[in-house]
Amino acid sequence: MVDTKSQYLKIKSAVDIAIHEVLDSAAYINGKPVQDFTAALNTYQGSAHTITCGNGTDALQIAMMALDLQPGDEVITPSYTYIATTEVVALLKLKPVFVEVDPKTFCIDPVSVRNAITPKTKAIVPVHLYGHAAPMEEIMQIAAEFGLYVIEDNAQAIGCDYTFLDGSKKKTGSIGTVGATSFYPSKNLGAYGDGGAIFTNDASLAQKMKMIANHGQQTRYYHEMVGCNSRLDSMQAAVLNIKLKQLDDYTNARQNAANFYNNAFAGNEKITVPYVAPYSTHVYHQYTLQLHNVNRDALSAYLAEKKIPSMIYYPVPGHRQKMFSGFDLPPVDLTITDWLTERVISLPMHTEMDQEQLSYITENVLNFINN
Ligand SMILES: *Cc1c(COP(=O)(O)O)cnc(C)c1O
Repeated sequence: MVDTKSQYLKIKSAVDIAIHEVLDSAAYINGKPVQDFTAALNTYQGSAHTITCGNGTDALQIAMMALDLQPGDEVITPSYTYIATTEVVALLKLKPVFVEVDPKTFCIDPVSVRNAITPKTKAIVPVHLYGHAAPMEEIMQIAAEFGLYVIEDNAQAIGCDYTFLDGSKKKTGSIGTVGATSFYPSKNLGAYGDGGAIFTNDASLAQKMKMIANHGQQTRYYHEMVGCNSRLDSMQAAVLNIKLKQLDDYTNARQNAANFYNNAFAGNEKITVPYVAPYSTHVYHQYTLQLHNVNRDALSAYLAEKKIPSMIYYPVPGHRQKMFSGFDLPPVDLTITDWLTERVISLPMHTEMDQEQLSYITENVLNFINN
């Protein structure tokens, strides 16, 4: 599905030098690359404050801890997302309230959000799924109306631009109260290990999140609150520093691959290609199709036979996961989420796809679908 090896080979000399510099410096934790990368990422995001941490799941958790959410507080989130989004809600003993997504964008549906609000609602967690922005303008309006926090899960969409109705633009992850992202190797800005970051424009929240990520301390050995231990290490930061400079080119490469796929599948009534809303760019963390009257398992097996990987993101939506069974959540009817879960398939998508690979994949997909 991804080809991180070929991507590495193109930046190998710079990466190898940067890693050796970290080895020579012996500053494995909080070395200069961490400070450099944090500053560069902050500029890239156009965010007032950036805090790096251990991974994307921690980023979401630290954000929710800093917002002082209390057990039983309701957090509205899509069911159709990677489990990390809703897992941290449950871990902090908050109540996940699963809502519907828009079948075109795969992202949280504002009408469904509005209908789910109760006096106990404290936060909304929009996920910019597959690299397309959630409808942030409407989400921010709802949040302002009801006094709710917005925690953006930007793990799949770093580099995505959101355009507001007045024409102004922001990077996803820098719109809500807090944004969280991941540098897991297969993410659009991937490290060679784990990493994550948190964005906010609120100075006191930034300070608090920084403390929480560091055992609740500002001054060493003086712990003002319960925190955790979550750090981006110097080697990952050194790698990310190099890759951040390539991020827009990487995004272009993904968009070119998506255009190739879109052209090949255009007009095929059994395939719906990814939609791009007027307010969002698409950074194609995944290239995900919706199939109509196609035996998905058989397609997947056919592709596997031809050595073409494909994946189902995600086979079981949050509201159907066993892990939430002890949470006494009211039953929800998420028809669109269930419908999508049964029809989506993701094709290989990365920065190193060439025309030959793309032709081979699309020909085989069409071979199966048209026969
Ligand atoms: C990858 C991902 C995360 C978690 O990131 P990790 O770095 O793996 O902890 C959270 N949310 C979404 C939507 C993701 O895709």
